Amino acid sequence: MTMLAVDSLVAGHGLLAAVREVSFRVGPGEVLGVIGANGAGKTTLFRTLAGVHTASSGTIALDGKCVTGLTPSRRVAAGIAMVPEGRRLFTDMTVRENLLVAGENGRAGNWTLETVLDALPSLKPLLPVLTGGLSGGQRQAVAIGRALMSNPKVLLLDEVSLGLSPVAIEGLYEQLAGLKARGDTAMIVVEQDLDRAMGFSDRVICMLEGRIVLEGEPQVLGKPAITEAYFGLT
Ligand code: ATP
Repeated sequence: MTMLAVDSLVAGHGLLAAVREVSFRVGPGEVLGVIGANGAGKTTLFRTLAGVHTASSGTIALDGKCVTGLTPSRRVAAGIAMVPEGRRLFTDMTVRENLLVAGENGRAGNWTLETVLDALPSLKPLLPVLTGGLSGGQRQAVAIGRALMSNPKVLLLDEVSLGLSPVAIEGLYEQLAGLKARGDTAMIVVEQDLDRAMGFSDRVICMLEGRIVLEGEPQVLGKPAITEAYFGLT
């Protein structure tokens, strides 16, 4: 079954096409890793999927329905949620408030404050805390929880481990593994740590200069081929 179908997507900045004819499918419960060097087009791809950047051409279909023309907020309501790189939170609000506000904008579904706290147990003791005072890892967990509160069918995770300590990264990925094991949400992840990306993803796409140059199951492709694609040696 396909949850997200992307076909011949093109998106750019002025004359520069940062995403060129990108096509892929992601199913429910599946994790697709997006691998590529700085400037390969990963962030532009994510922003285009989330609707904050407009596609020049191509289509994005969520659960069989075309969402290409929808605004970002309508896409959240349709079921695409992004955890952005740098994770913007309302820093003068508590963790609880951040989560509840997000719940008001999304779809109705199984994710409620209670089920999000079951999936992300590290958030439980933080509920009354202002997010401005949290560590990077804690903020990232709040950002993921906030995205879940909108009941996404597809969760876009852009460099969740950026700038975090190894212990914090381990804790986050443990929680993400629990989320994956539930099997209902499709996840697309950008992760700079190649081993981590290969370990967590069911399939990867390697991007180079806006194009997909390699695609497949990470263990089948193998690290040498993925590394070559990353550096543009293929
Ligand atoms: P990074 O890992 O550094 O975020 P990336 O793979 O996410 O890289 P993008 O940020 O999508 O890549 O960039 C793709 C291309 O688009 C690059 O050539 C970049 O210089 C260009 N680009 C990105 N954002 C803009 C912008 N706002 N205006 C002009 N060009 C941009």
